[in-house]
Amino acid sequence: MIKPNLHYADLKESYLFYNIAQKINAYLEKNPDKRLYRMGIGDVSLPLCDAVIKSLHDAVDDQAKKDTFHGYMPECGAPFLKETVADYYKSKGIDVDTEEVFISSGASDELGDILDLFDKSSSALVIEPAYPAYVDANVIAGRKIVHLSSGEENGFLPLPDDETEADIIYICSPNNPTGAVFNKAQLKEWVDFANKNGSIILFDAAYEAFIEDEALPHSIFEIDGARTCAIEICSLSKTAGFTGTRLGYTIIPEELERNGMNFNSMWVRNRTTKTNGVSYIIQKGGAAVFTPEGQKQIKDNIQIYKSNARELMKALDALGIWYTGGENAPYIWLKCPHGMGSWDFFDYLLNEIQVVGTPGEGFGEAGKGYFRFSTFGSPADTKEAARRLTELLGE
Ligand code: PLP
Repeated sequence: MIKPNLHYADLKESYLFYNIAQKINAYLEKNPDKRLYRMGIGDVSLPLCDAVIKSLHDAVDDQAKKDTFHGYMPECGAPFLKETVADYYKSKGIDVDTEEVFISSGASDELGDILDLFDKSSSALVIEPAYPAYVDANVIAGRKIVHLSSGEENGFLPLPDDETEADIIYICSPNNPTGAVFNKAQLKEWVDFANKNGSIILFDAAYEAFIEDEALPHSIFEIDGARTCAIEICSLSKTAGFTGTRLGYTIIPEELERNGMNFNSMWVRNRTTKTNGVSYIIQKGGAAVFTPEGQKQIKDNIQIYKSNARELMKALDALGIWYTGGENAPYIWLKCPHGMGSWDFFDYLLNEIQVVGTPGEGFGEAGKGYFRFSTFGSPADTKEAARRLTELLGE
């Protein structure tokens, strides 16, 4: 009889969003006349920008004509988009070759698939609180997970020390859920650690476009030594509203090797075996993000989310509540007031002011007693939520 992958039984049930939905439904059943202010979702609320929409329409028309029709696309990405992404890196002073760029259907898919590059015996270090997929993808593969807890004492930005041991190291900066961002000196410590130990950093840059502080790094490849120890995974989901359209990119430097094996070549082999590439239409839409017009339009949208963040930060500052994030990330991670637990605070906000956030506990043990606000909602709702928070907690 076939033996299933028994590691699925090791997955912890993720009750987070299910529990949130249950609590909201129960509340609305009892209070049908109440309106909720939803600041829990990590999905965007603004539509794709005009430059992308036009490019998508043009690409659909291309597919209607014999001369411009595209069938299978190259597995690692269309050359036009790979070049565009490499140029985007060059515009930030980072030298990336076109052949180091791989086009993907988004960061989630890639974060799971990329594990094919590593032996099952390699351990995976996850800085917690964390985006849940890092742990789950490794549990499914049967890997040992090294949980590195972070907290207020290090601004949720822990560094390696003499006891740190890991083969694969996940770094998400700007971070989901905490919104914290590693600076160059801190990332350099991780890079030096990885080079010394032969580890590989999987750098999740899904929120790089939200960085405002010019001194903070958008890419791990801004750090000396990263080309011999890091893979960067990025996405247009939050940068340009592609959550439902699906597009991302991954950078694997040509010199990244272990045991005489080259990770860039291995990934080419993997992609040519396991995918037939991303749709021509979507890649055309994605390329428009990097045009001057597209860049202006996505930045305008990001500024709307930023103004949401400012509304919330202003309220938290006035209330004297500790938080991180918001400035260079679309998430605000706050300490629940009066020593409340994450779920108690969730219930309190829902029942008293109809504001919905995400309990930090859902992102691992280290999130207990913390709470996440997303800034991807509508400005009017965010403003009202900030006003209600001030009124409730300022008493
Ligand atoms: N990485 C992080 C840290 C995220 O928060 C998310 C989505 O919320 C993703 C990756 C997934 O992005 P994508 O939509 O490209 O799959």
